[in-house]
Amino acid sequence: MSKKNTTDVIVIGAGFAGMYALYKFRKLGLRVRVYEAGSGVGGTWFWNRYPGARCDVNSLEYSYQFSDELQQEWSWSERYSAQPEILEYANHVADRFDLTKDIQFDTRVLALEYDETTNLWIGKTDKEDKFVTKFCVMATGCLSKHNVPSIDGLDQFQGELLHTGKWPHSPVDFKGKSVGVIGTGSSAIQSIPIIAEQAGSLTVFQRTPNFSVPAHNAPMDKTHEAKVKENYQEFRAQNAAQPAAIRMTINPDSALDVSEDERVSVFERSWQEGGLPFAASFSDIGINLDANATAVDFVHQKIRGIVNDPEVAQMLCPQTVIGCKRLCVDTDYYETFNRKNVDLVDIKKTPIKNITESGLRTSAAEYKFDSLVLATGFDAMTGAILSMDIKGRDNELLADRWKAGPKNYLGLTVNGFPNLFMITGPGSPSVLSNMIVAIEQHVNFIANLLEFILKNDKEKVESNLNAENNWVELVNNIAGQTLYTSGCNSWYIGANIPGKPSVFMPYIGFPSYVEKCNEIVKDSYRGFEFS
Ligand code: NAP
Repeated sequence: MSKKNTTDVIVIGAGFAGMYALYKFRKLGLRVRVYEAGSGVGGTWFWNRYPGARCDVNSLEYSYQFSDELQQEWSWSERYSAQPEILEYANHVADRFDLTKDIQFDTRVLALEYDETTNLWIGKTDKEDKFVTKFCVMATGCLSKHNVPSIDGLDQFQGELLHTGKWPHSPVDFKGKSVGVIGTGSSAIQSIPIIAEQAGSLTVFQRTPNFSVPAHNAPMDKTHEAKVKENYQEFRAQNAAQPAAIRMTINPDSALDVSEDERVSVFERSWQEGGLPFAASFSDIGINLDANATAVDFVHQKIRGIVNDPEVAQMLCPQTVIGCKRLCVDTDYYETFNRKNVDLVDIKKTPIKNITESGLRTSAAEYKFDSLVLATGFDAMTGAILSMDIKGRDNELLADRWKAGPKNYLGLTVNGFPNLFMITGPGSPSVLSNMIVAIEQHVNFIANLLEFILKNDKEKVESNLNAENNWVELVNNIAGQTLYTSGCNSWYIGANIPGKPSVFMPYIGFPSYVEKCNEIVKDSYRGFEFS
């Protein structure tokens, strides 16, 4: 084996997590190599190039904070950045910190096996038979394994078949075409208004409607940007103290303790402000069913006010708790259903029977399309990790260990899989927080742990089973106090993937998570075992 294939740390993935991990571990003097399946950096923002792809976190927050020079020199053009600009930022970071020389692109890691005699991980990619490393870091992303639904005849379709999560790199021209979109989650809600503008006709196949709040995106307010940059550190610290590490003012009042008029005017203000802070309109929307119902009513009224056809409006009104699935943020989504060239089909009432050569057939009708877009989401949080064949101590497969759900400690480590770490893994705040903030916190934690191992001449670290059991119980107890587990089939609990164990995966509450991590470190890495 060539020396080139032996490293201290292998990082899998060159999205925002992998890039910062490379930067940080290099600083420890470690030999680091990154494998990336795509041909460029950026992860989510490399793959999700569908029309309208845009971040739902404010641009001034959705960026790295590890380098003050970087955060001062970069300027965002809009309040919410679009995919091309975020990808440009990722490339800028890669160039600025000379990252690409240690990233092997177009290379997918297929397998990892822990060798107990040497305490090393032996890996295999689709390009090379063997690499050897002491530490493995999964920077594989929470929403990176796209979900292709098993619908009969999918391979028969002769038109253009697209998936929002794996969009082509060359421009897709919908001009004058007949287009079908399956799915009405965030990706669909962002892309449908733009596809509708271009296409001759668009038919949307909806299984479950979703709640969406207008983004009210706008050009960046340069005065505001300058003000933030004057004291970026304090701005970041204030945001990190918020439940999702996203800046929002949480109204301390209960939705049930104010008059109807006052409640509606608070919701109206939030609606006009736009975006995810709508969920913070009152303190109890996420924890009290009656309070939640007032928010549901408000959004239903909005939908009915926007959509001209009452039947279509009714189809678009979700009949679930608001926020138990990820709240969507849109530009002109509901308005799009007033267009003459757009139709909505309820596939709960008339299910898709099969895909045909020229379109698809439901129980009620046949449709013909030039292009069919699958906006059907991801095998979230565990999908990318489990798509590798990972064998730990005693040849145990991670897939077997996680048969009943992804048991782990802090969303970082798994007993029996020493020296293997996850960034924003299941059991950490990840998708319920500002991802870049969560990534930096995780990478810093892992870097400190590696430093501790090296300084103390330890060979390996892993979490103990007791700590894992307690951790998973805590994650679920916290979720149980909220409406996240109130019956909607969200990807947070794996319900969108047939056969996936039903376990709530993210940790709710970024500040309390950080506090717990800090306590554990202070307590000599309680719950971890070193040898
Ligand atoms: P998603 O929220 O999981 O939505 C997938 C859609 O496809 C759902 O409407 C689902 O219906 C439907 N679907 C799945 N399988 C189907 C089948 N077999 N037949 C018919 N319909 C099917 O996926 P997504 O829209 O890609 O979004 C995933 C997550 O990515 C978001 O929640 C968000 O966290 C992130 N995201 C963020 C942004 C942003 O920053 N603005 C944009 C895009 C995505 P059911 O609901 O009935 O299962």
